[in-house]
Amino acid sequence: MAITEEALQERFPRYSLANLPTPLEDAPRLSAALGGPRILIKRDDLTGLALGGNKVRKLEWLLGDALAQGADCLITTGALQSNHCRQTAGAAAKAGLPCYLVLRAPFEGEGQGNVLLDELLGARLIRVTDSARTAETIERLIADLRAEGRKPYLIPVGGSTSVGALGYVVAALELKRQLDERNLSATRVYFSSGSAGTQSGLIVGTKAAGATWQLVGVTPGGGAEGLRRQVLSLARETADQIGLGQPISAEEVIVDDRYVGPGYGQLTSECVEAIRLVAQTEGILLDPVYAGKAMVGLIDQARRGTVGRDETIVFLHTGGTPALFAYAEELTRA
Ligand SMILES: *Cc1c(COP(=O)(O)O)cnc(C)c1O
Repeated sequence: MAITEEALQERFPRYSLANLPTPLEDAPRLSAALGGPRILIKRDDLTGLALGGNKVRKLEWLLGDALAQGADCLITTGALQSNHCRQTAGAAAKAGLPCYLVLRAPFEGEGQGNVLLDELLGARLIRVTDSARTAETIERLIADLRAEGRKPYLIPVGGSTSVGALGYVVAALELKRQLDERNLSATRVYFSSGSAGTQSGLIVGTKAAGATWQLVGVTPGGGAEGLRRQVLSLARETADQIGLGQPISAEEVIVDDRYVGPGYGQLTSECVEAIRLVAQTEGILLDPVYAGKAMVGLIDQARRGTVGRDETIVFLHTGGTPALFAYAEELTRA
């Protein structure tokens, strides 16, 4: 049986949050600046809710699951400037559920960017100074809430479960449709890959759509090997869950960790250059942690000729723009 968005919605509860389909925009001035490849930008920074981003797609299915289970509050976790936490806070507000965010140190950019929005969205913020104690803090919070008779729903880092990944299965189907409508076919899709959910969903959705583009995940930090394993296992779990009926091999999981620089969340000069280039050629703002570094990968590979001049590339803009403001000082200094 064909895997379609409608068929998935019949089997899995979905809570509508996102403005879909997101635009697929031509980026001709960026293409020209890179000397050739046709570049289209898939604007998942415009999913809408609470300034948008890729987590909104996952949260539609996670909220669907939470509400079906009778949950009455949400818990999630991330860095202080987590986009995922901000979008979860937005989803919780829209669904009328209290939201607990367990935020780990370092606490850079306090009062700015995502953490400012978390507070405006009414989330309850729990800061964990010793990040090794994050899991323990979450367990204690769950136990306390249950003791009060509440039913918390825990969303793991990045919302990257097989349920959350459904958001990107649907996104791949949506992208295929948009390209087909314009008689285009993409050779590669570039995107930032951090906690495996986006990439796993895309792998499964790409197969379900019968598309042949190569998926290139660029990591914002951490080792590529661990993330590759995580993606492979989550993609297989997601495929089983929806009955894809096609194998997924390790070779299909491309994770590029060459553009991280000194570490997660640390600005590189290449990233600043990429942010300025895309802003000044297309009027599109990338973030300094994720999409900016993924764009560094695309720029580098276009300049080296790894990406050919005659290729059609989709750059998936996963959002994160509010984090720009938390980096104001570094960005203006650079
Ligand atoms: C979370 C995030 C990613 C990574 O998505 P994963 O599904 O965790 O791999 C990429 N870009 C932005 C802006 C994000 O917030």
